[in-house]
Amino acid sequence: MVANNPVRRRIRVTGTVQGVGFRPFVYRIAKELDLTGYVLNDSLGVLIEAQGAQKSLDRFEQLLIDNAPDLAIVETVTSEELDPSSDKEFVILQSKDLGLAAAPVSIDAATCDQCLIEIDDPHNRRYRYPFTNCTNCGPRYTIIKSVPYDRPFTTMSTFTMCDECQKEYDEPTDRRFHAQPNACPRCGPTLQLISPRGLVLSTGDDALKQTVSLLKEGLIAAIKGLGGYHLAVDASNDASVKLLRSKKGRWDKPFAVMVQDLAWANQICELNAGAKALLSSPKRPIVTCAKKKDHSLSNAIAPNLDELGIFLPYTPLHYLLLKDFGSPLVLTSGNMTDDPIAYEDSDARNRLFQLADIMLHHNRTIYIRCDDSVAKSTCSGQQLIRRARGYAPEVMRLKCSTRRNILAVGAELKNTVTVAKDDFLATSQHIGDLEHLSTYQSFTHTVAHLGNLFGVHPDLIVHDQHPEYLSTKFAHQSNLESLATQHHHAHIASCMFENQTTDPVIGVAFDGLGMGTDGTLWGGEFLIADLEGFTRVAHLKALPLPGGAKAIKEPWRMAVSWLNEICPPEQVEKYSSVLNPKSYLVLSLIQAIPQPTTTSMGRLFDAVAALLGIRSVITYEGQAAIELEMQAMRNTSKKYPKLDYEILTSDSMIVADPSQLLLQILKYKDGGLPLEELAMAFHNSIAQMTVQICTTLASINRIDTVALSGGVFQNSLLSQLCKQGLEKNGMRVMTHHRIPPNDGGISTGQAAIGCWKNRT
Ligand code: ZN
Ligand code: ZN
Ligand code: FE
Repeated sequence: MVANNPVRRRIRVTGTVQGVGFRPFVYRIAKELDLTGYVLNDSLGVLIEAQGAQKSLDRFEQLLIDNAPDLAIVETVTSEELDPSSDKEFVILQSKDLGLAAAPVSIDAATCDQCLIEIDDPHNRRYRYPFTNCTNCGPRYTIIKSVPYDRPFTTMSTFTMCDECQKEYDEPTDRRFHAQPNACPRCGPTLQLISPRGLVLSTGDDALKQTVSLLKEGLIAAIKGLGGYHLAVDASNDASVKLLRSKKGRWDKPFAVMVQDLAWANQICELNAGAKALLSSPKRPIVTCAKKKDHSLSNAIAPNLDELGIFLPYTPLHYLLLKDFGSPLVLTSGNMTDDPIAYEDSDARNRLFQLADIMLHHNRTIYIRCDDSVAKSTCSGQQLIRRARGYAPEVMRLKCSTRRNILAVGAELKNTVTVAKDDFLATSQHIGDLEHLSTYQSFTHTVAHLGNLFGVHPDLIVHDQHPEYLSTKFAHQSNLESLATQHHHAHIASCMFENQTTDPVIGVAFDGLGMGTDGTLWGGEFLIADLEGFTRVAHLKALPLPGGAKAIKEPWRMAVSWLNEICPPEQVEKYSSVLNPKSYLVLSLIQAIPQPTTTSMGRLFDAVAALLGIRSVITYEGQAAIELEMQAMRNTSKKYPKLDYEILTSDSMIVADPSQLLLQILKYKDGGLPLEELAMAFHNSIAQMTVQICTTLASINRIDTVALSGGVFQNSLLSQLCKQGLEKNGMRVMTHHRIPPNDGGISTGQAAIGCWKNRT
C-alpha cells in the first residue's frame, strides 16, 4: 500500500550498529510499517532512506532506538526530509565505503541462546557444530581485517558459503541475514586434533570427543579459541594443574577456570547478583569471585588466594567442550609466562607443543590477538581489570570535539592504545608488557589496525613522560607531533573521562611506579587536576627504592628501606635479617649510595606485606598487595588497633608519613596480634590518611570531587574504605568501572587529555 502524500527521510544511525543484525532489523520494521526505501552500512554507521506516511516514519525512528538488537549500541538517530521517490519496496543495499571509517566495530559476542538450541538439536543441520553463529552472536573484532564489516574483509573470506548458508545470508527475514561469519558443517571451519609431531589424530566432532577423553586422562591440551590459544587441563586433577604450572613457569599467578553454566559456577564460588550478570553477559569476562570452602577443584589453581577467576563458555566450541567434559576446566592463556598469548597457527605449534600434549586446532584465522577480559563485581558496581575480548574495541564519546587525529600509546606495562578524533575515542584490547619483543610487535600491529578500523590517521601522538617506555620511544620515532603526559595525571584523566567530568578534581593516584615531573618515581600522589593540567599538592613520603626494578619483584627490599628510615640501627638489623639473608647488602647500599627514591603507595603495600611475613618475593605483579588485602578480608574482629601516621604540611606540599604506623605494626606483630587484624588495621589507617588529606585539600581548594585511580585501587577493600570516608565527609567520589584503574587505562587518559587540549 502506498501512503497518500508520502514523506521521505534520510536517516543516519550512528553507534555500534554494524555486524549486530541492524540492517535485517531495519528491514523488518520498515516492512511492518509499509515503508519503501533502502538501508545500507557505510563507514559512518547505518544509512537509511525511508518513505511512507508521516506517522509511520515517526514510529520507525522511535523503534530504531527502542527495539534495536541486543548487541547494538545506538548513539544517535538523525534525519532530514527529502523529496519522495518512486521506489516500490524496501531493500538492503550493498555497503558503501566512504573512506572515513567511524562506525564502531562490534565486539566478539558469546553464543546466543537460539544458536545453542540448534547446536543441541540432533535434527538441526548445525547439531554440535562448533562454529555456529548468527547476527546476534559470534566472532567480530578478532576476524575483521578492515571496515565496512562485510565477509570479504574478514578472515571468513576464504570459506564459500554452501547453498543453504547463502540462502540464510540472503533472506532478510532470517536470523542469519548478512551474518558475516555464517557457516555450517558443510561449508565452514572444521576442527582437527593434532599431535606434537604434526599428525592429524582426528577431525570434526571426533576431534572434539577425543580431546575430551584425553583431557580426562590428565593431558594438557592447547585449544584454539576466539582471540588466541588456551591451555586446558582438568580443573579437578591436582597433578595436571601442577604440571601445567611447572611447564608454563607460572608458579602462583591464579589460573582461570571455565565452568559450564551458572549452576556450576555457584558450586565453586560465592556469586553476588553483579557477578552473575557479568558471567552471563554476551561479553563473558573472567570474573573474580570468592572461592567456596568445599569446592572440588585443585588447590593449585589459585594458591594462597581466597578468590578464583571463573568464566562461562563463549563460543560453541567451548560450550560443547565443557558439556562433554562434564566438569570445570582450567583454561589459561596459551603462552609461557610473560609471553603474549599465541594466536597464529605456526607460532602456536612452535611455542605451545613445548607445553601441551595435544592441540585442538581449527582453520578459521584469528586476525588480531585478544585475551580474555577480567572483571569483578564490587559493592560499588562492576570494575574492569583487563579490557580485552568482549570489551574491545571500546568506543566512548567525548564531551568535547577534537580537531586532531590522536593516537595515545599508553604505558609500558598492561599496555593498551587509544585512537581519537572528532567526538569519539576508541581503546584497544589489552596488549601486555611491551618489554617482550612479540608483545611490542602486537602493539605496532594494534596501533595500525585500530587506526584503520576507525579512520584515525594520527597527527598527534600522546605518550607517557617516562623516556624509557617503549611506547614513548615509539612516539618519538614516529616523527609526528607529540605530547608528553605525566603518568598519574593520565590515571586521573581516565577516571575523569569515564565519569564525564571536565571540572577540576582532587585526584588520588595510588599505583606502582610512574615518572614524576621532577624525575623521581611517583606513585602515592594527590593532584589538583583537570584535563588541561595538574598541580601536585600532596604525596606519600619519598624513600629509597633499593635496587630499582629489583625492588618490584622483591618486596623485602622496600621493607628494608622503611626499616632503615624508622628504626634505630640495632633494630634495623634485627628486623631486616629476618626478611632476607642478603638484607645487610641492601642496607649498606642504601646507606652508602644515594638510591632513586619513590613515593609509591604500591611499594608501601609491598613493604608491609613483607614486614608481616606475608610475601617477600613475588612471582606475579601485585602479588604481595593482593595477599595483604586477602589477609585483611579474613579479619572478622572489630577491635583491630588504630594506627597512627603523620601529615606534614608546608606552604606548597603536604607529605603523608606512615613511619609511626609501620613501627606500630612491628610492635603489634611482636606482641602476637593476628595477621588479619594487622592487615585490616593497615588498610583502615591508609584510608583514613587519604580521607584526611583530601578533606584538607577540599577546603583549601574549594573542590568537593575526588577521583580515585591507579593500580592500587584494584584493591576493593581500600577503595571501599576511602569512598565511605570521603562520602561521609561530604565529598563526591569518582571510581572506575569501564576503564581499568591500572595502567590498562593510561592510553584512554592520555587521549582524553590530548582531545581536551585540542578541542574545537
Ligand atoms: Zn546466535
Ligand atoms: Zn553452509
Ligand atoms: Fe600506573
